[in-house]
Amino acid sequence: MPASKTTSAPKTIESKLARLGLRTDMDLVLHLPMRYEDETKIVTIREACMRGLQTWQVEGLVVKNEISYKPRRQLLVTIQDDSGDLLLRFMNFYGSQVKQLSEGVRVRARGELKHGFFGAEMVHPTYKVVNEGAPLPTSLTPVYPSGEGLSQTILRRAIADAMRRIDWLDTVPEAIRARLRLMDFAPAVKLLHYPPKDADEHALIERSHPAWERMKFDELLAQQLSLKRAQQARREKGAPHLRAVGALSEAFLQALPFKLTNAQQRVVQEIRADLREGYPMQRLLQGDVGSGKTVVSALAAAQAIDSGYQAALMAPTEILAEQHFRKIASWMEPLGVKVAWLTGSLKKKEKTAANELIESGEAHLVIGTHALIQDTVQFAKLGLVIVDEQHRFGVGQRLTLRNKGSDGLVPHQLMMSATPIPRTLAMTYYADLEVSVIDELPPGRSPIVTRAIDQNRRDEVIERVHAAALEGRQVYWVCPLIEESEALQLQTATETYETLAEALPDLQVGLVHGRMKPLEKQTVMDAFSAGEVHVLVATTVIEVGVDVPNASLMVIEHAERFGLSQLHQLRGRVGRGSAASVCLLLYQSPLGQVAKQRLMTMRETTDGFEIARRDLEIRGPGEFLGARQSGQAMLRFADLETDQWLVERARDVAQHLLQHETPEHMAIVDAHLTRWLGGREEFLKA
Ligand code: ADP
Ligand code: MG
Repeated sequence: MPASKTTSAPKTIESKLARLGLRTDMDLVLHLPMRYEDETKIVTIREACMRGLQTWQVEGLVVKNEISYKPRRQLLVTIQDDSGDLLLRFMNFYGSQVKQLSEGVRVRARGELKHGFFGAEMVHPTYKVVNEGAPLPTSLTPVYPSGEGLSQTILRRAIADAMRRIDWLDTVPEAIRARLRLMDFAPAVKLLHYPPKDADEHALIERSHPAWERMKFDELLAQQLSLKRAQQARREKGAPHLRAVGALSEAFLQALPFKLTNAQQRVVQEIRADLREGYPMQRLLQGDVGSGKTVVSALAAAQAIDSGYQAALMAPTEILAEQHFRKIASWMEPLGVKVAWLTGSLKKKEKTAANELIESGEAHLVIGTHALIQDTVQFAKLGLVIVDEQHRFGVGQRLTLRNKGSDGLVPHQLMMSATPIPRTLAMTYYADLEVSVIDELPPGRSPIVTRAIDQNRRDEVIERVHAAALEGRQVYWVCPLIEESEALQLQTATETYETLAEALPDLQVGLVHGRMKPLEKQTVMDAFSAGEVHVLVATTVIEVGVDVPNASLMVIEHAERFGLSQLHQLRGRVGRGSAASVCLLLYQSPLGQVAKQRLMTMRETTDGFEIARRDLEIRGPGEFLGARQSGQAMLRFADLETDQWLVERARDVAQHLLQHETPEHMAIVDAHLTRWLGGREEFLKA
């Protein structure tokens, strides 16, 4: 459906409208009011004066018109109806207005009634000169979101004109409208622009009116259709068939020191089936911290290698990448797999050597940081890309890795995340992804007890740390997050380290922070892993992935500064072994409402999904996922929290329309996408 331009409006208006994103007639028609003014009723001046302080519309004849200079220059116009007098006061006015409002003229004025120095008055009312008996509007008057230099009058006219020109085709088939009890498109839009005077104004403002529901549904449907189309486009691309679950996969499972949990086995099957397909897998593997995602990803890599392809694993930090490297290499190298290591901090010579291994195909598996996506890295035959903690990477970074396939084939992609994404969000943000969930922890984990403790009891906490260390347990001491200043955060970490080292002279205290060289960090981490360091003071660099089962006590300082998901990630570093684990959240009182809620949630549950749900409740979806992934930003009308049920319906309808690809459906889908997304569809696909 070609969207016609608004050619009738003068250029300046057109460019002002464009600044609001209103370029086509349909854009204007879908620019819906935020509220309404009721100009359908007139009250008598007496009634307005008696009922007082709110907005009224009155009508009367001008009986007095004067310019007063006390206390400042102003125009004072008195109007009169059968019931009484009312003063209209204008502080800014034109000469033409003085004339326009001359004595004997009939005026319809609308404004807030106040009792001022001169008695009952309206200051700067909106008004119209009318003839006696001039008809009143029959619908509420829309007030639109506007921009600089665009008056409501101009907007109203532009929108009314556009409404006359557009094609009112209903892009939701009638049977579906009937089943979902949705209003038809045209009446819904018309009602929102010009609600009849008996409309439920409250429902209109709250956006719960059936007409709003239809708009939200349409908007969500466009989003779902667009995401599903992107998914179809992906399926049309070729990917290597990774058919073989062969010798390596079997030997690997044999050699593992533990048995896979049922949940792990299930997701391994899901991934295996995807990898055999000739189109690229795009699967998100969700599992709470410690649920054992790494071994699942290693099994996926084994399938790629068994099938004669390379696999790459990318992690967001060097510590995490190194830990994967060590663990996976220790599992796989004895089985004859060549694992290459690539990060930004390698010396030039080492980098060149790694690149040669990758390019020649000698390296079966490559593990590293975002250094993997650099132009200089050329894979011989990349079949599978694994991205750990995927939410830490931008869309662009993931796409670059995907482009590193050969022979025109797109590698399969497995993304891992310990931040569980609630269902509605997954449906709107990740409609293009398949999702696997590990919903079971490996056996033998002990529950973590969490306590919130006031900062002024720090000394007691230090004593507890001491006692725990003497029992042979290891301790993480997490330094406060200082978002405003990395330098300050570093200083705090160093000071904490010094205080603890001094307070605990018989213990080994270590320090890791983000500014250390990778090698230094690794030395400290190694010493901690080996049990030589008892207490590890750390900034949030340990947030993701670090795995030291003997660590069973964690202290988080200024816990009130961390977000829920962050706290959950941090806490996940303990409770990995068989010892009963404790997490102490030190806080600075007084606590704000949100912080209180967060700490309470942390005490109440260790279930990552439940925590994510509450986090979403506290923060809302935009902040929850970060602006980068904010699908909410693309939604003008629907609210992902309150309109969840509409999201589900929109998804089902999108699926239905695309599954039954009749020419009629295709035309409707195209029209719907053009209407709602215009040129913005590309953005959604990223
Ligand atoms: P995450 O999902 O947080 O990345 P990891 O993959 O690091 O978790 O696994 C956490 C720990 O659990 C590791 O020490 C890992 O070797 C161990 N693990 C994984 N799966 C199992 C299992 N089925 N049984 C016992 N231990 C397991
Ligand atoms: Mg992990």
